[in-house]
Amino acid sequence: MKEWKVALSGGIGSGKTHIAQVFSALAVPVYNSDLRAKELMQSDEKIRRGLIALLGEETYKGAELNKQFVAQQIFSNNEMRRQVNAIVHPVVIRHYEAWSAAQNVPYTIMETALLFENDVYTHFDTTIYITAPMEERIVRVMKRDMCSREEVEKRMKMQQNDTICVQKADFVIENNNFALSQVLTIHEQIVHGKIR
Ligand code: ATP
Repeated sequence: MKEWKVALSGGIGSGKTHIAQVFSALAVPVYNSDLRAKELMQSDEKIRRGLIALLGEETYKGAELNKQFVAQQIFSNNEMRRQVNAIVHPVVIRHYEAWSAAQNVPYTIMETALLFENDVYTHFDTTIYITAPMEERIVRVMKRDMCSREEVEKRMKMQQNDTICVQKADFVIENNNFALSQVLTIHEQIVHGKIR
């Protein structure tokens, strides 16, 4: 069976995890790249070597990733964040591809915050981008993460431009009251190979 690889992305608080759960309910296997990246930064030797070469020995405390140090290095430094992603993401994508190949389903989804950065999208057969009104996203993230508006806005500014991503994506889901029907339509299209 030809198995499509589908990327599901969107800005912070757009509802990636929320919409991914709907696809999961349709029996579509979903790979959470954020969680896997955290695991692989801990366990993968190639990532370890790359991060130490980029950020220095302080990146790991023995076997443990020094999360606080890495966060400090990339916070407010977009170029450094891009370089860290360039080390971590190829390993995550290869891990996803191996995982996906073992699923034996029409398609799998990788949930990812990155899509059009570092050419991540080129590894996928099709891409889905989730949008929601900016104000809703801010309020939802403030509530979810118990943080300030300023913190959310700062994280948003570090991300890819939403309008450009919407233009580039193959499918767009507006995370509103009609999200379920949008998911069902896209699911049908992908299952029948009507992509791109
Ligand atoms: P991040 O980029 O931070 O990982 P995300 O894109 O995965 O965020 P979610 O965590 O899915 O976004 O959604 C953000 C918050 O908004 C969550 O608390 C979620 O439960 C809530 N939420 C998402 N979509 C909806 C919706 N359609 N209706 C109500 N609440 C929603």
